[in-house]
Amino acid sequence: GRIISTEADIEELNSEYSLRPKYLDEYIGQNKVKENLKIFIEAAKRRNEPLDHLLLYGPPGLGKTTLASIVANEMGVNIKITSGPAIEKPGELAAILNNLSENDILFIDEIHRLNSQVEEVLYPAMEDFAIDVVIGKGAGARSIRLDLPKFTLIGATTRAGMLTAPLRDRFGMVDRLEFYSPEELKQIVIRSGDVLGVETDDAGALEIAKRSRGTPRLANRLLKRCRDFAQVCHNGCIDYEVAKTALDKLEVDSMGLDNTDRNILMTMIEKFGGGPVGLDTLAAAIGEDSGTIEDVYEPYLIKNGFINRTPRGRVVTERCYKHFGLDAFIE
Ligand code: ADP
Repeated sequence: GRIISTEADIEELNSEYSLRPKYLDEYIGQNKVKENLKIFIEAAKRRNEPLDHLLLYGPPGLGKTTLASIVANEMGVNIKITSGPAIEKPGELAAILNNLSENDILFIDEIHRLNSQVEEVLYPAMEDFAIDVVIGKGAGARSIRLDLPKFTLIGATTRAGMLTAPLRDRFGMVDRLEFYSPEELKQIVIRSGDVLGVETDDAGALEIAKRSRGTPRLANRLLKRCRDFAQVCHNGCIDYEVAKTALDKLEVDSMGLDNTDRNILMTMIEKFGGGPVGLDTLAAAIGEDSGTIEDVYEPYLIKNGFINRTPRGRVVTERCYKHFGLDAFIE
């Protein structure tokens, strides 16, 4: 996959937990969310009640799963981690809920992808800590209510807008995670370097941070690649030179753009005079699927002011020309 993808690859899915901070004080950035959580956690603990259901939303790799595990540690309870697409039948969710202990946390990643029958099991579970089970068939069928242990649901989603209203309304807290600043990512890189046992100086860590698209998962991945480079080609320390050389070799530029990003932007400039160009036309020109451009590549480019969306199509910005050292020719 893409080196700068913010989704976890297989190796990361297995090893990521070791880089995860365990307590709120080690969790860097997201200060507003942290402040809120501290108060809610403290209050819930004093009342000896489970935490209110919590919905975390924001792009992949910003620390939603990490935060859920931290909440479990801070509350001193267990966490069961699953995901929307993994739960196929209502009975599977009922079994998971039934196996929780009092005050436990159930974390459902990609919660917007639960199917509607499964989702309906969640409503009474979240509201009354109970599930309704239908026994028998046809005219003799009847529904009985089973009590569940009190629990906290933490849902994570990249697309809060895709949650149904009844589900969204059942969360007592809704928090949005933001992209991290280079300074925050620098601290994350230094901390991860400590965990991985690789020395990283300030300038080296900052160079990795700047190219990490505001995303800790990517910062950690680039750090690991720089570590390989530092160990093989240098004395082991990741300083500015090592970071810059390694990242240039990986073709991740000073703004965190990779070859495909650059290809999209340069095609817009060279073949379409900077736009406006329609999504499908652009997709055909670079041989990529238009949905992939829209969902995967474009958001970062738009967010960082390289592309604007207009009613007549996409246009590149002056900032984009500057990034490539070109003079803007904007009508
Ligand atoms: P998400 O669930 O949002 O996709 P994760 O929680 O899996 O993201 O985080 C991805 C990686 O980034 C984790 O390995 C974790 O170590 C790191 N990470 C995320 N947020 C932070 C943070 N605030 N401080 C330190 N490391 C973080």
